[in-house]
Amino acid sequence: MGKININDLEIYANHGVMEEEQRLGQKFLVSIALEFDLEKAVATDDIEKTVNYAALSHQAESFFKDNTFKLIETAAGRLASELLLTRPQVKSIEVTVKKPWAPIGIPLEYVSATEKRTWHEAVISIGSNMGDKAAYLDLGIDTLRKHGIIIKKTSSYITTKPYGYTDQEDFLNACVRIKTVLDPRSLLDVCHEAEKAAGRERLIHWGPRTLDLDIISYDRAVINDSDLTIPHPQMHLRDFVLRPMAEVYPDWKHPLKNMTVKEMLDRLPPEGIRKTDFSFDSLEFKDAIEKTNVKVIYFGTAGSYSQAAMFSYFGHDIEYINMVDWDKACDALTSGQADYAVFPIENSNAGMVTQMFDALVNKDVYITHEIFLPVSHCLIGLPGTDISEIDTVYSHPQALMQCGGYLKAHENWKCISMENTAVAAGFVVKENNRHYAAIASAIAAEQNGLAILDSGINDNKNNVTRFAILSARPIVTRTAKKISICIELAHESGSLYKLLSYISVFGLNMTKIESRPIPGRNFEYRFFIDFDGDMTMSDVASALTGIKQNAKRFWFLGNY
Ligand code: ADP
Ligand code: MG
Repeated sequence: MGKININDLEIYANHGVMEEEQRLGQKFLVSIALEFDLEKAVATDDIEKTVNYAALSHQAESFFKDNTFKLIETAAGRLASELLLTRPQVKSIEVTVKKPWAPIGIPLEYVSATEKRTWHEAVISIGSNMGDKAAYLDLGIDTLRKHGIIIKKTSSYITTKPYGYTDQEDFLNACVRIKTVLDPRSLLDVCHEAEKAAGRERLIHWGPRTLDLDIISYDRAVINDSDLTIPHPQMHLRDFVLRPMAEVYPDWKHPLKNMTVKEMLDRLPPEGIRKTDFSFDSLEFKDAIEKTNVKVIYFGTAGSYSQAAMFSYFGHDIEYINMVDWDKACDALTSGQADYAVFPIENSNAGMVTQMFDALVNKDVYITHEIFLPVSHCLIGLPGTDISEIDTVYSHPQALMQCGGYLKAHENWKCISMENTAVAAGFVVKENNRHYAAIASAIAAEQNGLAILDSGINDNKNNVTRFAILSARPIVTRTAKKISICIELAHESGSLYKLLSYISVFGLNMTKIESRPIPGRNFEYRFFIDFDGDMTMSDVASALTGIKQNAKRFWFLGNY
């Protein structure tokens, strides 16, 4: 790398903050340092192969005289850009402006400012989905050019499906690889100017637009400002960015992902899968669910089986609250009041907990883990009580039923239904009556200071309840092996068959399908489907793409 220096060009010009400075002008000394590859010039001794410093000096003089700036740093920066713009072979230009007559009221040698400009390589993604889309893309590229941006390479214009807000026209997308002396923010200004030139109005985020210019990359810079993020935060997930970018800059390496454009493109799931009601992009892959410093909601009241399930998974070292309303619990998750919720979703005898499945569809919560807890009912009473003293048993009707055989053996006992098993335990405590007992969990006994008079009294010893650990974040842990989705189908023959064929075609093992009426619509059903797999498998992505495209509505419920 060689250097050419021009020192202290004397130029009389009109820069300065004060009005007289701008009117009368004064002497400036301008130094220019160029960095560039001088090898060819040295070898050939040919002026054509180097930078002609006479021409450069005259150009600097004209620019410096023809413009008026308040600040010498602005004058230096603008001049450096101006000189570099017409010399793409030069690597960088540094300009120092000295002002020996600076009117500060004290004699001085000079004040000076130095600014350096270098070339940067960036990629801009351009898209349009209104009017003459190709003409708008052309206009975008023209606007870049007008601002002295060098268009190194333009990708083909590709047609893509809309993203996010999908009820709109297809897009035409392209990427341009540019060379620019502009800093990222000035480049963003140029992008906005191009959008303005195309008459773009920002009505809906991700909505229809005449022209959208996004800065995808700027060298290998990482910028995280409120109004500018580089590399573009979604670029690695967007097929409509990566495909055209692979045409113009396949080897660019993402500074954070450390992958080339080609590698990122290869990693994308097949097209279409990201346009579901949930976003594939937002899946959060984690080693495991954190169990410390978390706040957990459990269903029901103290002593409920949900509480037992919560303790069995999270341990006791957590902050927890209870809730009895499914929707409110989901809202508490989505508003960030709690990290997880432990809710029963299915019982081996009683089947699915239907309210929970409705909540899974209506609320933005995901299953992140499941726990199977054997239902083991206990007969609990006041400490020191003997079973022979009992004459009345309180519990939830289902629990009473599940212990039918046991209760039959104690025919003289009166059975009374209560709201739930934990409430029954509380009632026994409150009544403080040695003749009363409750059928509830061991944890209900512990919580209420009651004694376990008998345990494992349910008839079916294989009674198991499945609990879901819900989160507002679509967390997928390393151990995830089951995927749950929900679909609604068009009311036509063969639609379910066709949908399920995606599962079999891609060799996936469907483990469950259950239907549930769609609230408010007679004899129309939603299907809840489980199958084995995890979201990183390409067969899963392909099957989900097909299902998503053919279902009327689609929900991803979790991969756990
Ligand atoms: P989108 O491009 O996501 O459809 P807009 O074009 O409306 O949305 O952009 C909204 C804002 O995003 C812009 O005003 C800009 O300040 C900001 N932004 C952040 N990073 C970038 C980037 N790399 N390129 C372009 N705009 C960006
Ligand atoms: Mg944009």
